[in-house]
Amino acid sequence: FNNPAFNKSADFRNHVLSHPRVNNVTLSDKKIGLKALNERKYLLNNVSFIIETQLNEEILLSVSEFKTKRHIFISGTFFVILIITLLGLNLTQRVTHYLSRILISLEKIESDPTSTEVIPVNGKDEFSFFAHKINLLSEARMINQTKLINSLNAACIAKNKAEEANKAKSSFLANMSHEIRTPLNGVIGLSEILSETSLTPNQSDYVNTIDTSTHLLLNLINDILDFSKIESGKLLITPHSSNVRELIYDAASILLPSIANKGLNLVINIDDNVPYTVMLDEHRLRQVIVNLLSNAVKFTGNGSIIIAIKCIDKKNQTTSLLFEVIDTGIGIAQEKQAQVFEAFSQEDSSVTRKFGGTGLGLAISIELIQLMGGVVKLESEKGKGCRFYFTLTLEIIVQNRGVNTPSQGQGNIALINSSHSLVEEVLHNINYYGLSGIEPFAAIDDLLKSNRALNKMVYFQQSPQKTLLDIPLIRRIYPSAFIIIIRHHNDNLVDYGSQINALITYPLLGMRLFDALRENPLPVQAKIVAPPVPINNEQIQLASFQAKKVLLVEDNLVNQKIVLIMLNKSGFSCDIANNGQEAVDYFNAGNKYL
Ligand code: ADP
Repeated sequence: FNNPAFNKSADFRNHVLSHPRVNNVTLSDKKIGLKALNERKYLLNNVSFIIETQLNEEILLSVSEFKTKRHIFISGTFFVILIITLLGLNLTQRVTHYLSRILISLEKIESDPTSTEVIPVNGKDEFSFFAHKINLLSEARMINQTKLINSLNAACIAKNKAEEANKAKSSFLANMSHEIRTPLNGVIGLSEILSETSLTPNQSDYVNTIDTSTHLLLNLINDILDFSKIESGKLLITPHSSNVRELIYDAASILLPSIANKGLNLVINIDDNVPYTVMLDEHRLRQVIVNLLSNAVKFTGNGSIIIAIKCIDKKNQTTSLLFEVIDTGIGIAQEKQAQVFEAFSQEDSSVTRKFGGTGLGLAISIELIQLMGGVVKLESEKGKGCRFYFTLTLEIIVQNRGVNTPSQGQGNIALINSSHSLVEEVLHNINYYGLSGIEPFAAIDDLLKSNRALNKMVYFQQSPQKTLLDIPLIRRIYPSAFIIIIRHHNDNLVDYGSQINALITYPLLGMRLFDALRENPLPVQAKIVAPPVPINNEQIQLASFQAKKVLLVEDNLVNQKIVLIMLNKSGFSCDIANNGQEAVDYFNAGNKYL
């Protein structure tokens, strides 16, 4: 731009622009101006060419530099990838190698737990450290395994020893209880015989105390014997055709004196659809009911005790019977309820102090019911009594007692009672056994006025005093009638002598009442009077020559003596066999027994 052509061409342009009319510019100016413009154009073209050339060179240079850098980068990247790949391959190979060695060793240990396989360790890297750690773990496992085996062996030996000791203990208990029972029977039997001889009041008191104590001891021994039998698995249930109603009445009859003593009310509820006979171990079920009942009596100060059997299900030849013993006694606190089912366990120590007992009864009962296929359950609230219950599923043998074939004197039975509910209950009970022809009378006057030909009277006692007045009245009108008194278990026991023919204690009805109604047993005054008690051997021998004969098989001399005295007292004579062989010999010799 220093070239004069630029100035000249600029002047020419200014000059032309300042003269709007081109004709005012001189030709020489025009020539000079155009020349300067051309020169200027040439200069500019020249400059642009140089710039273009320079730019081209610079661009080419940059491109070539870029290409070089690119090649360097690609080569570098490739090199790095190559190194990483090589390192990766190496690492993979080492990992696989170590893992396979570890796996092989672990498999060997797994297939043979006693194997002492060790993973080879070479190097100081993490894998070697890992293998080393696994070796340590395996070694620790081996040590623990040995310890475990040793302690298991020790536990096994200890368990076997404990089982043997337990068996030995149970069998010792069973043997001891059996051995103690035999002489105890002697004491009980002889004290009973002694109590029937003439004694001074003091002597009789001592004999009673001996009797009570020996019975307590016998119960305790029986419980221990049962418990040890259960513990050693020797207690077996032997079901046979059993009358479940009578079982309840029999159990209740055992506890009735204590119930009456405490003035408690006893209620027996047996559903009509409870079968007459079922397959069950009558003896063991009675034992459970007696046990639950005796607890109910023991722990109830006042109120009542209910024994009930309900038929809750019946399918083909089986029935599910719900047995319940309910009382209104002291009850058992919720948190103690599980504990009382355990052996030798009571609700608390005050129970032992106040009521005595061993805490074995419930433990035995639950085991017995379990052996029969049931579970004893308890519902109770402290102070509000207990309900012990269980369900047994039993095979039905006979569902209904069936209509009794009319026997001598059946029909024409008067039932004398003012209480509608009691009449209903007794009627119901009698009807179950198929007896009919019963006529209820609300009062003795109704009967006396009725002028009916009746040969049996069931008189429900309201009070012993009234009975003592009423019986002679009945006798006057019906001198030969068969009179059965039903007395409430809480009534005083009065000796009506020969005025009546049978005495039934309510609520123990069932077969007791049915048998009394069905048969015409000998009047009371005609009963066989017991012969005097023979106490020396000659007398025993003499007494044994009587008409009704039984065979006594017993090896214990004391027991032989007691049984002989009792049999003789009841009017039986007997042969004594000391063992089974002697018993068979007696039979083979052609002796006939009852
Ligand atoms: P025992 O009667 O000889 O103590 P059991 O095993 O029969 O032994 O009873 C265990 C305990 O359960 C009793 O000591 C008593 O605390 C409680 N028990 C059982 N039956 C009853 C009941 N009907 N009412 C209140 N407590 C009862």
